[in-house]
Amino acid sequence: MKYDVIIVGAGPSGMMAAITAAQNKNKVLLLERMDKPGKKILATGNGRCNLSNSYLDETCYRGGQPHFPYPMIEQFGLSELIAFFESLGMLVTEQNGYYYPASMQASTVLDVLTEKLRALKVDILTGFYVEKAQKKKDTFRVFGNGKIFEAKHLILAAGGCAQENLGSNGSGYKLAKSFHHKVMEPFPALVALEGKGKYFSLISGVRNVSSMKVYANQDLIAEEKGEVQFTKYGISGIPVFQISRFAIDALRRKKKVTVLLDLMPNMLTLEETARAFQKTCGYKTVETFFQGFLNKKLVFVILKRLNIPPEKSIRKLKEEEFLKILHMMKEFPVEICGHKGYDMAQVTAGGVSTKEVVQGTLESKILGGLYITGELLDVDGTCGGYNLQWAFTSGYIAGKQIGKK
Ligand SMILES: Cc1cc2nc3c(=O)[nH]c(=O)nc-3n(C[C@H](O)[C@H](O)[C@H](O)COP(=O)(O)OP(=O)(O)OC[C@H]3O[C@@H](n4cnc5c(N)ncnc54)[C@H](O)[C@@H]3O)c2cc1C
Repeated sequence: MKYDVIIVGAGPSGMMAAITAAQNKNKVLLLERMDKPGKKILATGNGRCNLSNSYLDETCYRGGQPHFPYPMIEQFGLSELIAFFESLGMLVTEQNGYYYPASMQASTVLDVLTEKLRALKVDILTGFYVEKAQKKKDTFRVFGNGKIFEAKHLILAAGGCAQENLGSNGSGYKLAKSFHHKVMEPFPALVALEGKGKYFSLISGVRNVSSMKVYANQDLIAEEKGEVQFTKYGISGIPVFQISRFAIDALRRKKKVTVLLDLMPNMLTLEETARAFQKTCGYKTVETFFQGFLNKKLVFVILKRLNIPPEKSIRKLKEEEFLKILHMMKEFPVEICGHKGYDMAQVTAGGVSTKEVVQGTLESKILGGLYITGELLDVDGTCGGYNLQWAFTSGYIAGKQIGKK
């Protein structure tokens, strides 16, 4: 049997494309290499699935053409996504601008998608690894597991490389390349960063609201604020995820990457306050004095990095040493030397060049009838529901084209 469309990958993007195409009376085949569709969805948002965000604009996306996804998100954005899930009988709820299924369970999202696919009689083959695809005349032929399927259209929705155990393993790039598409070198994003130095074990486990400035050599490349988690290897937490793609991209370009952490970002009068406290707290050691300002472990590490004995009396602290401590509280330098890789990354930056797909339809400019969606494209969103919104948006956009011509 010849299908109207074959979709490679049953992630959020592929499932959305399948539902949209099937709703337009197309015969759809959805192929998935894992034993179940949508495994990654279950892991999203710490099992709660952060679907989207109330703050959505062009600045939320990155890639070779960072403005590429937004016009499509204007077509199918937050309100359309909510309406879509409501049409599947699932309520969506908002918490501080972040959107989740009302059940707060990612499994609900997966369940309503798979129920709808079944209701629309989409053929789903799991455990099916697409090895090869080609187009002859007006027919796509898809090969895998010793079988061949045929369709008029092909949608590649195979994701990137992040967390292979959940499905995506980079094979989508190979398929896109076989159709002569250019792939911008992928790298992990939304991931923890490794720092240089031996002091991390002393502060591992500390969480501190900080603002961060990221420098590549001398250039400021990113800024962020939030709760930073120190680990035995470096830094983690949502603000670190947000800056990670810039830091990793700079490391790839062999730049020296330094993150300067303001450990007291809300304290604008640090020096004046510390001087005032000095007048009444002259009986303290340097260590206990600064513990009144900051986490004990951070104070200890700052003194260690500055070679200032913690037990020294605050009265005997030299002016120069006093200023150095304050400076390090406001600009705690972490030299970035690596990252935790695809196994820990939430998304893949890089991917199929957006220059070679049509903005607004996601059809390949190289081969008619071929569409590319989701994380497989050179589009990555910041942390906060933006990647799932893009996966659903792009799946919808491509699915809608099937059978139009
Ligand atoms: C731990 C974790 C938490 C996350 N949390 C959030 C969050 O809360 N909010 C958010 O917006 N984003 C989140 N993300 C990111 C988001 O999940 C992804 O960006 C999104 O799933 C991408 O959708 P996709 O359909 O393009 O690709 P994927 O979800 O990766 O799906 C691709 C599918 O294609 C299949 N496949 C690949 N190659 C083949 C092949 N050759 N043959 C057959 N099948 C194939 C894969 O098995 C996979 O099922 C998270 C990611 C992770 C890893």
